[in-house]
Amino acid sequence: LGGAGRLYTEEDPLVILSSDSLKSAVTNSSSAWLIQFFSSWCGHCIQYSSTWKALAQDVKDWQDAISVGVLDCAQEENFDVCKDYSIKFYPTFKFFWAHSPPSERGTTYRGADRSIPSVRQLMVNVLQNHTNLDRPKHYPPLEPYSAAQLLPLLGQRSDHYTAILVEEPDSYVGREVILDLLQYLGVQVKRALSSDRPLVDALKLTAFPAIYLLHPNGTHAHLHSEKPLRFFFSSLLRTLPGVQRRLKSSSTSSSGASQVGALPGKQNTEPWRDFDRSKVYTADLETALHYLLRVELATHNTLEGEELKIFKDLVTLVAKLYPGGGSVVKLMETLSDWLLSMPLQRIPYQAVLDLVDNKMRISGVFLGAELRWVGCQGSRAGLRGYPCSLWTLFHVLTVQHDANPTALDNTGLEAEAAPVLQMMRRYIRTFFGCRECGRHFEQAAAVGMDNVQNREQQILWLWQQHNRVNMRLAGSLSDDPLFPKAPWPSPSLCASCHEEKNGVHVWNQDNVLRFLRQHYAASNLSPEYSV
Ligand code: FAD
Repeated sequence: LGGAGRLYTEEDPLVILSSDSLKSAVTNSSSAWLIQFFSSWCGHCIQYSSTWKALAQDVKDWQDAISVGVLDCAQEENFDVCKDYSIKFYPTFKFFWAHSPPSERGTTYRGADRSIPSVRQLMVNVLQNHTNLDRPKHYPPLEPYSAAQLLPLLGQRSDHYTAILVEEPDSYVGREVILDLLQYLGVQVKRALSSDRPLVDALKLTAFPAIYLLHPNGTHAHLHSEKPLRFFFSSLLRTLPGVQRRLKSSSTSSSGASQVGALPGKQNTEPWRDFDRSKVYTADLETALHYLLRVELATHNTLEGEELKIFKDLVTLVAKLYPGGGSVVKLMETLSDWLLSMPLQRIPYQAVLDLVDNKMRISGVFLGAELRWVGCQGSRAGLRGYPCSLWTLFHVLTVQHDANPTALDNTGLEAEAAPVLQMMRRYIRTFFGCRECGRHFEQAAAVGMDNVQNREQQILWLWQQHNRVNMRLAGSLSDDPLFPKAPWPSPSLCASCHEEKNGVHVWNQDNVLRFLRQHYAASNLSPEYSV
């Protein structure tokens, strides 16, 4: 990758091309391509890189139809290819149609407006204008349907939902939602125009854009959306019952997830536990601690030095911040007192296990002895479970620390600006079984964790980092089809968390913070299914 790594890295949701890969990527490709030829010494390219990454993220789900790439013309190895493609100025944007011949050198975009919505609309136009015979079969229809085509579908049964998105003629929302749903099975999106009176009258729609939803069982109705925005429509359709993301068959960055996911769980033989996504379940938190203490740490025969210190600190942190008192807090307090009273520099882990399993059970303080996921249940073994519960535990701890600012006083942990995050970082780095996850988390922590100044930022940093992971893993092998990874909280959990600014989805961080404080609060914990 050479110097391209300076502006763009493998972690970005786009393809970094070079003289070796450009031609083979675009020639006879099943998707169209939009490529930015840049130069890593061009100041504007450097500034623009964050917009380009945001664009690539914004249209990540369109990649079967159109891929986004970059090529650094300042790299010596790329001099010839940039000359061959006549790149004279930076950045230059070029489109390549699907099924391009080897001689194709792309069409240069000469517009001055490089904002995300404009480039996105251009991408839509490229796909829509590919009308000749070699238009790829998997391209979705982007032209509007008419009342004559759509009204006969009403009342018909089908094996999928049909969403009719009715919009003003100059709106792009319909086509963007169609492309957002390209990788999803179980729903087809068709667009129609608000100027189509027979359709609008028959569906009794009055405001646009709007979605009229035909259910598989033949019933149909207007689909209510809190806000008439692309993000809300796409999110609503993706979360319809039975709608699933098609899984990529190739290997992805999820390599580590199989390690963390391969738990000795019984979840596929156990009966399904119904749960409410707007709640947090103590059963998940307890099971996280059960797994952490009895399985993850138990692979270490002895704890000494830095490992022992991290373990002691974690136990203290949980003892002080775990919500609601009860058995878990009692156990952690006893464990913490015991660890602090031990003058030893080295503790055999079996002694910890004995304490957790036997001595405490006798005194009536114990942690569930089995894996009992609720909000972290996976649709099959190996999905969700422990890593899900670990995220949940640390989110709860950040919110509890905010609610109880003095809880860590006199523990030695209070000196740090973000003790919960720093503890999580140390735990993940030292003990978390998924090494790949640990490497990613450490990279993120190295960049931004030390800038966290207070308890509010601590809550938001973890939320933001978790969303970055969600976006990276969406559609990968660790993505449970029943719980597809997506920006969280979804509009259905928190509509006021989402806004649109200049055509791009943005978070309302004040409302996100309010939501997280409520969601991970002690009062939102459900004891259902807990031991
Ligand atoms: P999870 O992502 O585990 O989320 C659990 C629950 O938290 C969700 O159900 C939701 O209720 C809530 N939630 C979701 N997003 C947010 C948010 N932004 N803020 C607050 N709450 C939220 N797997 C890999 O394959 N590669 C990795 O590099 C990787 N890194 C990881 C790093 C860490 C620190 C951890 C703890 C896990 C990592 N994993 C990684 C595992 C992965 O992130 C998921 O935990 C796992 O795939 C299970 O996913 P899930 O669908 O249960 O949801």
